Amino acid sequence: MTSSATEPLSILVVDDDDQMLRTIGDILRYRGYAPLGAPTGREGIEMASRMLLPPAVALVDLRLPDMDGIEVVARLRDVSALTEVLILTGNASLDSAVRALREQSYDYLVKPVAPESLLSSIDRAAERWRRKSAEAAMRESQERLRRMFDHVRDALFISDERGVVLDANPAACELADLPLDALRGAALDVVLGAPVSAPGAAGVRDEYRITTPSGATRTIEVSSSAFAPGMIVHSVHDLSERRHLEEELHQSRKMDAIGRLAGGVAHDINNVLTAITCYSEMLVAGLEGTDERREDVLEIRRAAQRAAALTSQLLAFSRKQILQPRLIDLNDIVGEMERLLARVIGEDLTIDIARDPELWLVRADPGQIEQVIMNLVVNARDAMPRGGRITIATANVSLARPHSHHHGIVEPGEYVTLRVTDAGAGIGEDVMPYLFEPFFTTKGQGKGTGLGLSTVYGIVTQSHGKIEVGSGRGTGASFTIYLPRAAGEGPAPARPASPPPSAIGGSETVLVVEDDEALRNLLVRLLSEHGYRVLAAADAESAMTLARLHLDEVRVIVTDVVMPGPSGRELADGVLALKPDLKVLYMSGYTGDALVHRGVPDPERAVLQKPFTTETLVRTLREVLDAPPAAH
Ligand code: ADP
Repeated sequence: MTSSATEPLSILVVDDDDQMLRTIGDILRYRGYAPLGAPTGREGIEMASRMLLPPAVALVDLRLPDMDGIEVVARLRDVSALTEVLILTGNASLDSAVRALREQSYDYLVKPVAPESLLSSIDRAAERWRRKSAEAAMRESQERLRRMFDHVRDALFISDERGVVLDANPAACELADLPLDALRGAALDVVLGAPVSAPGAAGVRDEYRITTPSGATRTIEVSSSAFAPGMIVHSVHDLSERRHLEEELHQSRKMDAIGRLAGGVAHDINNVLTAITCYSEMLVAGLEGTDERREDVLEIRRAAQRAAALTSQLLAFSRKQILQPRLIDLNDIVGEMERLLARVIGEDLTIDIARDPELWLVRADPGQIEQVIMNLVVNARDAMPRGGRITIATANVSLARPHSHHHGIVEPGEYVTLRVTDAGAGIGEDVMPYLFEPFFTTKGQGKGTGLGLSTVYGIVTQSHGKIEVGSGRGTGASFTIYLPRAAGEGPAPARPASPPPSAIGGSETVLVVEDDEALRNLLVRLLSEHGYRVLAAADAESAMTLARLHLDEVRVIVTDVVMPGPSGRELADGVLALKPDLKVLYMSGYTGDALVHRGVPDPERAVLQKPFTTETLVRTLREVLDAPPAAH
């Protein structure tokens, strides 16, 4: 709005008298102004509205051919409120309009105008214009400053030299969790709960962790600089979100590394456990009912089963499980578990279930979600040895902004949440970072395995969900599972149960592919004993050769998923291309991503989870063989 000092001020002259226009123009130019002449009112208004900087002064003849001078003045006011108006009139005493103009405090000149009085009137008007526009510019810059102050995302505090808050912007009020009134006059280092750089020090940056009145913790960076005499501006940047992202990345890398290790160990141990289980079953079958050694062998088998339960938890953690996701309603799952949970928690505890009646659906493996709920409830129980109340609540949640919490960030979106809350001892900050690590437990020797929450973590992560933990020492704990809302109509009907197998054995030709030699030998032996003709290979390539040779006879391939060289899936796809009605049964200690992502969509591509028992093996194989052919 300001013009530079060197630029001449523009003066608009509106007069229909050509001679007059020229004379006034010359006088003004001589005085150092930039005159603009318009012979009609309309042209004068147009000229003014096209100017980037409207004229400082407008000199308007009251009598114009096209419109009344008063109207010209009014329209000019609309174009620029700052323009100073001077009226030129024929005869002051006779012109009634002049009185009206005076009331509106327009200055006026009576024709004929002496150059000196014209110039002194113009000079005064120009001076008024300069003052008014300087004030307007100042107001505007103050308003702009205030708008900036009010709208920047960083929190800004202005303090005096002793650190007493003079002013704060809305972001600062939000950060401090206090209204402006409460902030004014307070000591800034008390408000932030962190020392703030020495008064007067300019541009000092420091990072602090603060706790707001509502108990939220935040990581902030404060930088202070002298702003005006006796005033320091402190800009406080909330780093919490970035820190959370960094923490989440760090956490997920750590979990991935541990997961790979755990998954690998579990995979190998599962082969061993399968052999132990099946050989002990064979031994038992060969022993007389009265033989005392029977119990011993059964004990071996039970031990192997306990070990298998551990490896399956490790696999869950390593997110290498085969999930069978379906559209599910968490309310149904919680409802079905109610009685079981009541038994698990015992008599000193009660469970409250709060269901959101309009709950959206999620896509997840119902069995796995049951395990998540069970583990959380068991932990809640353990946290309240003297009894109390556990709450399970389901809800729909729409997040418009990222939601950050202790272990990371939940992206914006629609979620179904399941929250398990207890009133136990709570979880301390020192324990928080390790909560989901396998084998991390604070429970005494023989009491906890430290696998509960790592299983929860694995399942939830593999189901594309997130876990939020809310707790402090002494305030109980709450675990909230966020599962993405699934698009879809209603829960998929459960698959009709397959007809009971006609017989538990069979006589078909089976191609067994397994790289673990002990397990391969075991499979050959078991399947042969159940009547099957068995071909065996140690890897996909030799299996392919065998399949080509015996293409007509082979009815089913029983194959490991993960093997050195091509995977079981690649092998199956290869043979299926030659023989579309071939059946496939995968065996897996864990699975590669390809299988995980596709889930296990149809019964013809069943997966046998290692370790398995003889019974499961032969029954599943029979089911696969008896399933109707796939529609390719
Ligand atoms: P475990 O229960 O075998 O110790 P978890 O992985 O389930 O293994 O839990 C790990 C640790 O997390 C527990 O030992 C305990 O310190 C802490 N924890 C889990 N749930 C809660 C809870 N609801 N309240 C307090 N602490 C808990």
